[in-house]
Amino acid sequence: MQTVTNLFRLDGRTALVTGGSRGLGEEIAHGMAEAGASVYIVARREKWLTPAIESLQAAGAKCAGSVCDVSDPASVKESVRLAAETFGPVDILVNNAGATWGAPAEDMPLDKWESVIATNLTGAFLFSQECAHGMIARRFGRIINVASIAGMRGSLPRGIHCSGYVAAKGGLIALTRELACKWAQYNIRVNAIAPGFFPTRMTEGVLPGLTEDLKQNVPLGRPGRDGELKGVAVFLASDASNYVTGQTLAVDGGSTAATI
Ligand code: NAP
Repeated sequence: MQTVTNLFRLDGRTALVTGGSRGLGEEIAHGMAEAGASVYIVARREKWLTPAIESLQAAGAKCAGSVCDVSDPASVKESVRLAAETFGPVDILVNNAGATWGAPAEDMPLDKWESVIATNLTGAFLFSQECAHGMIARRFGRIINVASIAGMRGSLPRGIHCSGYVAAKGGLIALTRELACKWAQYNIRVNAIAPGFFPTRMTEGVLPGLTEDLKQNVPLGRPGRDGELKGVAVFLASDASNYVTGQTLAVDGGSTAATI
């Protein structure tokens, strides 16, 4: 039997993290590298991507990356090819790229709805599909979808408006279950992480106004902190979770466990 320390190691593995240029994706990329994986990160904009690659390399990681729009099939294909060319075939895929649009459902512009679905849901599908071919052939794969607790339940009337986002994240959780069931036979495990609120660029506009709400409604009484997500991602990527598939793990200070 492997030791617990060894169960969490990812040495020799290639991990591809979408949206790895900042926020939660950058933290997850650091976690994968700290556990021994080579890490390939993708995002649309160089201005965050290049510094993120440099910071990972400065921390001792084997890291590279390229510009990619996860909603563009050709861009997805090319990223998976480049990752494999750089570090070897993708063993671990983290579908983390995400975006939201805040508008009441009754006023949500259709193009914003479509773009939120394309980034959060279609992008994860395209990357999973592209990586699955090699994973099926090699009989090994770990896919981690970064969903959200917003995909598990609605928000109160005074809560933030994000109908496209909740639909996409709910869809991503359902897709996680379906891919897990269909690909288990190939030794591909598919799980999701559902973060609560964490301070990132995505939440910087809303988080300051939510301090009191979080104090009252999150059992741990606060948003997530730096370093509270990467361990969960490494767990799901590693042999430590070999009998876990199709699951969504909420990392939310207990908020989905609570009711008033
Ligand atoms: P963030 O700081 O805004 O980071 C989003 C990342 O996704 C960036 O690297 C961004 O880079 C990339 N991205 C966005 N659209 C993309 C596209 N079309 N193609 C490729 N890359 C794209 O947000 P974050 O909070 O770290 O979010 C990371 C994930 O966690 C998201 O899926 C989000 O929904 C989820 N999440 C976050 C929270 C939270 O409280 N922060 C809570 C629940 C779930 P570019 O803009 O340069 O493309």
